[in-house]
Amino acid sequence: MDLNEKLKILSDAAKYDVSCSSSGSTRKGQKGNLGAAATSGICHSFTPDGRCISLLKILLTNYCIYDCAYCINRRSNDVQRASFTPQEIINLTINFYRRNYIEGLFLSSAIIKNSNHTMEMLLQVAKKLRLEEGFNGYIHMKAIPGASEELIHEAGLYVDRMSVNIELPSENSLKLLAPDKDKNAILAPMRSIGSQIISAKEARKTFKKAPLFVPGGQSTQLIIGATPETDLKILNLSENLYNKYNLKRVYYSAYTPVNTDSNLPELKTPPTLREHRLYQGDWLLRFYGFKAHELLSEEKPQFDIHLDPKCNWALNNLHLFPVEINKAPYEMLLRVPGIGIRSAKKIVISRRIAPLNYDDLKKLGIVLKRAQFFITCNTKYYGSTDIDDIQIRRKLVPQFEFEENIPYEQLSLFTLSSTTHNTSLLLNSTSAVKPLLLQDSLSALTGEL
Ligand code: SF4
Repeated sequence: MDLNEKLKILSDAAKYDVSCSSSGSTRKGQKGNLGAAATSGICHSFTPDGRCISLLKILLTNYCIYDCAYCINRRSNDVQRASFTPQEIINLTINFYRRNYIEGLFLSSAIIKNSNHTMEMLLQVAKKLRLEEGFNGYIHMKAIPGASEELIHEAGLYVDRMSVNIELPSENSLKLLAPDKDKNAILAPMRSIGSQIISAKEARKTFKKAPLFVPGGQSTQLIIGATPETDLKILNLSENLYNKYNLKRVYYSAYTPVNTDSNLPELKTPPTLREHRLYQGDWLLRFYGFKAHELLSEEKPQFDIHLDPKCNWALNNLHLFPVEINKAPYEMLLRVPGIGIRSAKKIVISRRIAPLNYDDLKKLGIVLKRAQFFITCNTKYYGSTDIDDIQIRRKLVPQFEFEENIPYEQLSLFTLSSTTHNTSLLLNSTSAVKPLLLQDSLSALTGEL
């Protein structure tokens, strides 16, 4: 099989991993025009310092000894298979890099022979790229569950980011859909990578030349909707992963049916709005000081798909509002719907000079569409309705008047990053959902909920 054919198969097989996003464009090159958006493997991702970079996103192989029910590459599927040699991946990376197609490599793999053998092959790629080719670009590599700690540690010395995919949010679901996988074999490398990242950072405080270890941090991916876990269970798991394993990111991937299996749910469309709400809830955990148990409860374990999680929390806790904009602590300002980190900082700085009124907030560029219902300025309330759950919901989601249920939206298979994801949702959505999603899309870009 020639290299192009392998590239086509193994980049296509890598597209289900959302911890690195792909454009998925199929625009062909044309005579007289410049360039072509090849589907084979080039995708975009964000580095730890926030730069958007192009990566070659491929699998080492899609031959797999496991048979996970939800996976296109599972052993029992009749799909075209291919494997790269480590040297082929190195050559592709260097050639693409030299031509300026990519700034780095995202390398994952199905499990061929066994976990150690697969990890050894991945390690060879990273090691040779760094030591023999002098490659200084970005490398994101999967750590293979079940591989030895030594192999994973060695790989961590050469890559920028590592991820171990949990995939399913509970042990029971793993047993049901991925019976070859073992919860401990997934958590053990995660734990080890997390503690080695901390040790390496500590060592570099004392010795400037101490070796780097996964400087971009580690991430994981959870499939949403293939199993019955609630949003509360999923968000609790994410919170634990951030706290215990020092994770940089948890990625959520709406379950996309690709196989027929009696243990899989029958979904007409992937639950992409649910995935989107989970990303927003996750953002509140990481940047706004919320805890999972504040956003969701055993009585209400699912996010409301009509409202972003911060609005939903505020409406469930109306007794805490309105807050006086001139007195509320920074942490409480952050909890006001519509006021994000930048806005809260602006308010805190400006009110030191003089008390702020409603017009001052507008002049500061604070978006008051949502915030008006939850604040007072110099004790005066400016909301266009009473402080009442139902009335505010009606103002925030006028579609309630017309549509009882806003359905989950169908996306293309390539709705992989939260940003491209929102754009696709927006373009494909019904007119009733569009205003809601436009706000959500902006919030996903700015982080202001
Ligand atoms: S281990 Fe499971 S999820 Fe991973 S490639 Fe193999 S079948 Fe797919």
